[in-house]
Amino acid sequence: MKKVLEKLYETNNLTKEELIFVLENIDESAKADLFQLAQATLEKTYGRRLFVRGLLEFTNYCKNNCMYCGIRRDNKNVERYRLGKDEILLSLDKGYELGYKTFVLQGGEDSFFTDDILLDLIKEIKKRYKDVALTLSIGERSFESYEKYYIAGADRFLLRHEVANPYIYNELHPGLSFQNRVDCLYNLKKIGYQAGAGFIVGLPGETNEVLAENLLFLKQLEPAMVGIGPFIPHPDTPLKNETIGSVDKTIVLLALIRLLLPEVLLPATTALNTLCTNGLERGLQAGANVVMLNLSPIYVREKYEIYKNKDSKDIHELNTVEQKASSVGFRVDMGRGDNINFRRI
Ligand code: SAM
Repeated sequence: MKKVLEKLYETNNLTKEELIFVLENIDESAKADLFQLAQATLEKTYGRRLFVRGLLEFTNYCKNNCMYCGIRRDNKNVERYRLGKDEILLSLDKGYELGYKTFVLQGGEDSFFTDDILLDLIKEIKKRYKDVALTLSIGERSFESYEKYYIAGADRFLLRHEVANPYIYNELHPGLSFQNRVDCLYNLKKIGYQAGAGFIVGLPGETNEVLAENLLFLKQLEPAMVGIGPFIPHPDTPLKNETIGSVDKTIVLLALIRLLLPEVLLPATTALNTLCTNGLERGLQAGANVVMLNLSPIYVREKYEIYKNKDSKDIHELNTVEQKASSVGFRVDMGRGDNINFRRI
């Protein structure tokens, strides 16, 4: 195990067999070594800085029916909402006043938000907050649409690949195709976005081999950002009785991702924090360096329920985040926190 981990640290790569070997056999002492190597790798790229993002969940309408997701189309128990332009800007104003320099606009796949509506919004945001990076997370759209949003000023785009196994992907995403997801990710990269991929840990049907495929997919794509989090079964979905994803495994995977992609921006995600009170600290100790705090209006938060008891920290909870970060030797960085390899073209 020691030799394989050293190889990973030296070369930032492993074969599929080696990744499976690590996932199958890692014990507590090897985990400590792995986390140390992940931290040493982060020291060389971003240092011990934690980047904060303001997350606005602007619509929970979704035309998709992902089997795990609480805001899937067929869930009739969700009270649907979408925020208007004024409400969006008001929320972002609050974030800006508090010093946030990255806003993430996330939502279900909501065709109410046409290209024209989105372009108007993107331009307004970039005019209003000149020094802010804007991230979109709105699902699959055409190359032409992605390109228009980029030209209008969007900087980054989060689109998790969810699971890099076409059979499992297609089973869990009725009406969608893995190939289209992958094409979208490559399109985003080609256009110039800082693109983010990622996967859910512990989906039904997942094996260590599938996890190794997820890791190698990321290695090949080389995204600017990666988001992973444990699967949390939602009671109003077809996967309600499935087993919850493992926090421990998620933390090991975070460390492996840091070592495979030293320059990636890697959040300790809300799903991780939901299952584990010290998810942020454990994530940071395994190579994560980003956290997203919620700036959605309070009255919509419960409605954006992709899983139950979602523990998203409020943008005002920066103090708590700062304390948690400093308890593991990190300091909060309020800058844009771009990927170190990216310059806007
Ligand atoms: N619609 C956009 C998209 O498809 O990229 C963004 C919104 S989607 C709700 C955000 C992410 O939530 C998904 O990429 C998925 O990984 C995650 N998610 C949804 N349901 C989940 C669950 N039950 N457990 C863990 N993660 C979940």
